[in-house]
Amino acid sequence: MPCPCCSGKPFSKCCEPYVTGAKKPVTVKQTMRARFTAYALGGYGDYLFHTWHPQYRGGLTAKSLANRSQNWTKLEVFEAKQVGDRAAIEFKAYFTNDKGVTQCHHEFSQFLRHKGRWYYTDGKVKMDEVPAATAQA
Ligand SMILES: [Zn+2]
Repeated sequence: MPCPCCSGKPFSKCCEPYVTGAKKPVTVKQTMRARFTAYALGGYGDYLFHTWHPQYRGGLTAKSLANRSQNWTKLEVFEAKQVGDRAAIEFKAYFTNDKGVTQCHHEFSQFLRHKGRWYYTDGKVKMDEVPAATAQA
């Protein structure tokens, strides 16, 4: 099966080793892409929990994060900017709402690195209008 993160690689050679915990992602992009995949597939709450900075995850639990809350369909990753142990990534994650309309979750995510691993802290979200032509693609 193709990886849900839209890398063009099979799931087994892309995000699967990360979301299952078999391997640790090294780059902030790998961490972020696998977080999208974990959300898209559901059932990988442990990965989401353990890549979420403890000071920012509030009352979230691995169990609550395993719920597939949206029908995520596509990911586009833009630039990642890294300065030392801080990074920011811009991405667009598309999902289909309960009316069958494609929506875009446009986020600027912030990550912090601790002992070689990246942790999501928070992000600025911008909900974009998706033109009909793009929604069909
Ligand atoms: Zn992937």
